[in-house]
Amino acid sequence: MKTRSVEMVATPKAPHFVGDGFRVHNFIPSYPMLDMQRMDPFIMLDYNSKYNFPPSEIPKGVGVHPHRGFETVTIAYEGSVEHQDSSGGGGVIGRGDVQWMTAASGVLHKEFHETEWSKTGGVFQMVQLWINLPAKDKMSKPGYQSILNSEIPKVTLADDAGLIEVIAGEYNGSKGSATTFSPLHILNAKLNRNGKADFALPEDFNTALLVIEGSIIINDNEKVPTDNFALMANDGSKFTIEATENAVVLIISGKPLNEPIAAHGPFVMNTHAELVQAFNDFNTGKFGYLED
Ligand code: MN
Repeated sequence: MKTRSVEMVATPKAPHFVGDGFRVHNFIPSYPMLDMQRMDPFIMLDYNSKYNFPPSEIPKGVGVHPHRGFETVTIAYEGSVEHQDSSGGGGVIGRGDVQWMTAASGVLHKEFHETEWSKTGGVFQMVQLWINLPAKDKMSKPGYQSILNSEIPKVTLADDAGLIEVIAGEYNGSKGSATTFSPLHILNAKLNRNGKADFALPEDFNTALLVIEGSIIINDNEKVPTDNFALMANDGSKFTIEATENAVVLIISGKPLNEPIAAHGPFVMNTHAELVQAFNDFNTGKFGYLED
């Protein structure tokens, strides 16, 4: 099996606020070489690196807004988020939990810091990923999967190296919690200092790593510090990561859909006409109703 090399290490760009509750560094699609095509089917990755929110009686976040044509996946590392959508999905996710919302034909939703958490505030750290849907599934029924950390399969690594949480896809035969529309893997590697983990992911799967905590060395030669993002080349399947200190690493890898992408704001479709339709449907109330 050929080794998959590191194509680029991206340092976080200046952060911006999404609503008033998410202070994010965008990697996909705004970083050079990380556009929607390059990371297909992962079309957006916002990273709220560790940030201390002061106490607030009014929860911070993003008010009611629409989505169509893809899934939003929120992975909580620190802090707590409350979500509600017009298809009836909703809930609270906290440290270690994952929220998987399939917008598909369209939902309205809102995303806020959880009310009680807001009152004390504290360190907040989260990733939001947008995963594109295949054309045939874009107009299917919306869905919602709430995945608590206790439900996520964990693969213990040899030599006290740590563990791999399988959020979606699989690792060494352990299948992940989430139901997906296309073949992809989302893993959290939680490694002890000097712990090593091996990966073998199909060469054509677009693959990247985000170092959430600590620092790692990929393939014994490429150092990636905290909050940096490593894009892996499509030149092999096998790679190794080693923690130089206790580390948490998000690994995303997906088979490209290789379909045309027409994206504008909260809508990601295949053609311009479908985008126009999405705006019309939204403006005429076809996404349902959700109270502010
Ligand atoms: Mn949203």
